[in-house]
Amino acid sequence: MWCPRCKEKETKVIDSRVAKELVCIRRRRECVACGYRFTTREYIEVRYPRVVKRGGGRSQFDVSKLRRGVSRALDKRPVTSERYEQMITSICERICETSEDEITSQAIGELTLKTLQQEDEVAYVRFASVYQSFDNIESFHALIEHMREQKEEQLETQTESEQSDAGRTT
Ligand SMILES: [Zn+2]
Repeated sequence: MWCPRCKEKETKVIDSRVAKELVCIRRRRECVACGYRFTTREYIEVRYPRVVKRGGGRSQFDVSKLRRGVSRALDKRPVTSERYEQMITSICERICETSEDEITSQAIGELTLKTLQQEDEVAYVRFASVYQSFDNIESFHALIEHMREQKEEQLETQTESEQSDAGRTT
């Protein structure tokens, strides 16, 4: 995408939003050379894979259902509506990227969980508890334990890289 002002070839996307039914993506762009900001709209032909439900039934992918699930999980959480839209967009894009004709509702759930986990832990647990419909307190406890382990691993790798950084500078 060229800058309309200075014709610089490189511009970066600074924000993108999807219209409700994913027909139009609106992107704010910024020219890397002159800083000029402009908006582009992409109209896309969306072909979602069919959704295979747990019982084996097929249905049309329903973005409003995804929206409901995610916004319920994010209720009263400090996540801006902008971030919320970006999350929905990225989940929708990933669903479209699966080149298969069909996607299981389970796979959609996993994609959503992965996105929420990076964004907000509380929302993640909320969504997981509905989606995986924990039937007992143990399975819920197992999820929390799993999250804690992942976090500790992350911290360890962070500390390691910090140490190696320090080693390099001295
Ligand atoms: Zn420019």
